[in-house]
Amino acid sequence: MYRDIFKEEHQILRDSLRRFVTQEIVPHVDQWEEKGAIPKSLFKKMGDMGYLGIRHPKEYGGSEGDIFMTLVLAEELARCRSAGVTAAVTVHTDMASPHLVREGNAQQKEKYLPAIIRGEKICAIAVTEPDAGSDVAGIRLTAKRDGDRFILNGSKTFITNGYQADVLFVAAKTSPEKGHKGISMFIVEKGTPGFSARKLQKMGWLASDTGELTFEDCRIPAANLLGKEGEGFYYIMNNFQDERLVISAICVSHCQQAMEDAIAYAKERQAFGKPLSQHQVIRHKLAEMAIQIEAGRQLVYHTARMYNWGLDWRKEISICKAFCGELANRVAYECLQIHGGFGYMKEYPIERMYRDVRVWSIGGGATEVMKNDIANRLNI
Ligand SMILES: Cc1cc2nc3c(=O)[nH]c(=O)nc-3n(C[C@H](O)[C@H](O)[C@H](O)COP(=O)(O)OP(=O)(O)OC[C@H]3O[C@@H](n4cnc5c(N)ncnc54)[C@H](O)[C@@H]3O)c2cc1C
Repeated sequence: MYRDIFKEEHQILRDSLRRFVTQEIVPHVDQWEEKGAIPKSLFKKMGDMGYLGIRHPKEYGGSEGDIFMTLVLAEELARCRSAGVTAAVTVHTDMASPHLVREGNAQQKEKYLPAIIRGEKICAIAVTEPDAGSDVAGIRLTAKRDGDRFILNGSKTFITNGYQADVLFVAAKTSPEKGHKGISMFIVEKGTPGFSARKLQKMGWLASDTGELTFEDCRIPAANLLGKEGEGFYYIMNNFQDERLVISAICVSHCQQAMEDAIAYAKERQAFGKPLSQHQVIRHKLAEMAIQIEAGRQLVYHTARMYNWGLDWRKEISICKAFCGELANRVAYECLQIHGGFGYMKEYPIERMYRDVRVWSIGGGATEVMKNDIANRLNI
């Protein structure tokens, strides 16, 4: 299936990842969910396997694979049935480190990228603030130039890997009076005086650490400016496109898992003298899910093809993210319903999935914001 996009090399990666997820992640997921973080050693193991630099340049240890390789990573990781684990890894590989690859200079890449690809340094992307999420231009954290330093003051919130990360790519206002044109990106290392992080408690994604970051007169070298001063907003918007594709692929994979689990349960569970799967209402519910999931998958693959062909995919990626983020929520709701009371119990994976998927229609561009973008691109 999908032979035009998934070739032999993609299948090899898929087989390898499936084995890795089954052997190295699935047996530990419950423990990591309870602990509230995945161990750093998982990043190292994934780095050793070559999973953390799939599209990154070969000269820094990456594989320079194509976008479809990234889809394979997202789809297979999501099979571990913990969106927290999936988010922690894909933020590192596809949402944070691409900033360094795209905007970093040779010295910055040399200094950080090989260790990120080897899984020795974990990274995070810090844009959202307590007073500005969807409205990126509204961020308030400031970076003031002082000789060969920038001084950062302000805070960030909801940052995935924010507590554990060794390297953070941080958006700050260098010229607050210029609005979105006054945003720049910086590299901040854990341990820099004036920088601190605390873990937030949340509803799902329990295996992923989500941090609140504080910057109090945090002095960083001016050499840590990432790309050009004042271009940060455009860098963030550009990187968001990849992020949204990865999120959409994860959502479809979650849906597929949830549906398979619900089918297995419906075949086994008896009600009114026959398996649930023989009741037409349940059959139609599952058939409808299959229709919607396939539509989501096709959107993901279509959008990835557009990227691969170098076409303008901005409208399609917003459509894809809006559709798949909502789809994951609808499918998780219906699959839990099919499980009845057992779906509400922790021993069934659908309980975690139901909590985990909630954020996919919020993070990385909320559905409403995606719809605004689509409407703008329709010239409405
Ligand atoms: C678990 C988790 C992990 C995250 N990880 C990261 C991370 O690693 N890095 C990072 O920078 N951020 C991260 N985020 C933040 C995430 O990207 C934001 O939550 C998201 O962008 C929405 O911003 P907000 O929460 O401030 O909501 P707001 O922007 O305040 O929006 C609130 C509601 O209003 C709606 N809304 C906003 N504007 C409009 C509008 N113009 N028209 C109609 N409706 C609108 C939104 O859709 C939403 O429903 C994470 C969030 C969570 C929950």
